[in-house]
Amino acid sequence: MPKNVSLILGDKYGIIGRPGQKVECPFCRHKTFSIKRDDTLGKCFHPSCGRYITAWGGELSSASPVQEILQQVFHDFHVALLAQADQTGSNAYRYLIEERKIHPQVVVDSMLGVVPGEYSVGDLFEAARTDLKEKELVILTQAEEKLRRCTDGSAGWLCFFYTDAYHRIVGIRFRKPYEKQIRYFKPFDQAGLFGHGLFKPHKHDAESSFNDIMIVTEGEFNQLQLQSLLLRHSEAKGKDLDYINACAAGGIHNADYDCIRKLARQPIICYDNDASEAGIELVERARNVISVEAFTTPRADSDLDSFIRYFNEDHSSAWEALKKLVAERQSYPRLYEAVAQEVFRVRQRHSNNDQRREHEINKEV
Ligand SMILES: [Zn+2]
Repeated sequence: MPKNVSLILGDKYGIIGRPGQKVECPFCRHKTFSIKRDDTLGKCFHPSCGRYITAWGGELSSASPVQEILQQVFHDFHVALLAQADQTGSNAYRYLIEERKIHPQVVVDSMLGVVPGEYSVGDLFEAARTDLKEKELVILTQAEEKLRRCTDGSAGWLCFFYTDAYHRIVGIRFRKPYEKQIRYFKPFDQAGLFGHGLFKPHKHDAESSFNDIMIVTEGEFNQLQLQSLLLRHSEAKGKDLDYINACAAGGIHNADYDCIRKLARQPIICYDNDASEAGIELVERARNVISVEAFTTPRADSDLDSFIRYFNEDHSSAWEALKKLVAERQSYPRLYEAVAQEVFRVRQRHSNNDQRREHEINKEV
């Protein structure tokens, strides 16, 4: 079962802290480690650290050694990305800030990185190889091969780290800055989501109309631009608002609806307004798994990123326009056929050992 971050901090590191508090970081020892108010995530906000603890305290799986390596990869790639801020010439950091107009603080706070010039993925995997069981070794070796295929020859590429509902890294999307070349590292079945769980290190008023909702976009830049707008709007108002609960699915074909379902009861999908109407597919596919609400941006061939950027420096107009779009969202209930199938599956005896009684099956239904 998942545990709370404050419990893990106490049990494993002997650090006492409550949700919403700032305590000593178990990794770098600065007093910059903040526990999210819902106790699902703890994160160090020291610029040279950025390490985090998730609320996952359950059984270790055969995927765990890979996930531990990916945490280290994220840390190294993220530090490398932030170091590019002081370098001249075009690079992944400049691409984010200047070309895509992402707020620098959003870059710091997000699970973004860059493939460093000199980096040995092999060393990390080699160190993890000792004391592993057969099954773990197979998964580790496959993951290493897949990751090498993504990192070989891609120094300088931007990386988006995807996490599951417990903030464990389950995938990385690589993108060559200024171009649309993509590589995708996906070692497990689940795809995870990009950018969920962003929070600021101390107590804030959240924008009330965005409480209790989660906005799901298709591309990562929609999510990053949305959080950038939130910060710019807050700065213009002189308020210190917390981030919006939002994430990106990454693409229609790999959208992790199971993860969305775990994170939000009634997610709001902001789908791309493609001329080909391909964008609405993100909503249609969701309906096999969950009921959703959805909206799109008004102009043809636009997405949330271009919608927000259309307002240039007029952040308060962009903010008001966004609130209006969210308020006018439509309902897309889960498809009856999908519900019926799930009920049918639950009703079947799972095997000869299925000891459930009729009333227990009815309860599950
Ligand atoms: Zn730290």
